[in-house]
Amino acid sequence: MTVPTENPTIEIYPSRETTVGNISVKRALPKRQRRNIGAWCFADHFGPHQVKGTSSIEVGPHPHIGLHTVTWLLEGEIIHRDSLGSEQLIRKGELNLMSAGYGVAHSEEPSGRKIDSIHGIQLWVAQPEATRSNGPVFEHHSALEQKEFDNAIATVLVGTFAGSTSRARTDTAIVGVQFDLAVGSSAVEFNPAFEYGVIVLQGKVSLGESLLSPGFLAYLGEGREELEFTAHNPSILLLIGGEPFNEPTLMWWNFVARTREEVTEAYSQWQSRSIRFGTVDSRLTRIDAPTPHWLNKNQ
Ligand code: MN
Repeated sequence: MTVPTENPTIEIYPSRETTVGNISVKRALPKRQRRNIGAWCFADHFGPHQVKGTSSIEVGPHPHIGLHTVTWLLEGEIIHRDSLGSEQLIRKGELNLMSAGYGVAHSEEPSGRKIDSIHGIQLWVAQPEATRSNGPVFEHHSALEQKEFDNAIATVLVGTFAGSTSRARTDTAIVGVQFDLAVGSSAVEFNPAFEYGVIVLQGKVSLGESLLSPGFLAYLGEGREELEFTAHNPSILLLIGGEPFNEPTLMWWNFVARTREEVTEAYSQWQSRSIRFGTVDSRLTRIDAPTPHWLNKNQ
């Protein structure tokens, strides 16, 4: 049981700028010092990027194991295609959730329609031992529960927040909520058994003494009963949290596994086009896996 503390932690981590497919991202998770927040293990904030005509994100077919991908847009459109045969347009306010389990492949592509900009976040959630060997599943949720606060509208992507529960699948106790903030302060209730993190997607928000803007993750720890935040201009933040996830994961490339042997097997099977990952009906080029460093004799 978690005992609420009087001064719960707040740790600020700068995101790392990197590139995925054709687009630059701010990688908020994982950090060397902070691998997970609940079972959330990866977070790439992309944009807002101005785009020309119908261009958008282009990430060719690639595999996943042992994780859920959670895709959420603030602007623009993407088409998701996967080896289950799914083809799904995703827009602002909609959620794509893909549970990889034993193995799946997918691509992210332009919709073919004209957009002005692309802005969003993709997160991964580690699957627990109980479900990580199951078959893959894809879900799309176009209507999400919302809750109004004094200066905020909360949209519940996954889990339960302030009495509202998302229909999206969860394999562990997690929560993901977007807050659209008007200028001013808001206080929201937390579950003291959860650890939490905040990623500002737009604007400027104070959490206690800390001023947060896009490009930073605030880790809030466990034991909080509530959080107060103050938006200095209209802002959007993403709250992620969950019960601490204590399974010892090995995250390598697009795989969340437990051992090098598992990763090596998944790597070999993707490279040899094994039926494990199926095929994605995509015009984009399939993405090869890098060689795991433990297989590379030159290192
Ligand atoms: Mn992916």
